[in-house]
Amino acid sequence: MTCHNCGGELENLITDLPFKTDCDSIVIIKGLPVLQCTNCGEYVIEDTVMEKVDHILSGVDKATELEVLSYVA
Ligand SMILES: [Zn+2]
Repeated sequence: MTCHNCGGELENLITDLPFKTDCDSIVIIKGLPVLQCTNCGEYVIEDTVMEKVDHILSGVDKATELEVLSYVA
């Protein structure tokens, strides 16, 4: 798999990323496995990972302004 942005090499990386769930709501997911381009730094989140992220985000209280969650529950 190569970077869709520049065609560079992607490497596996565990990181923390913020996701906006609503206009005022941000969820930071820690320990997220992503692919990062070694050339331009672009992140790619695989479909299976994104599905789990969607599931995690769907369980978050919309009234929460900021929540920090772990990818590995
Ligand atoms: Zn790239």
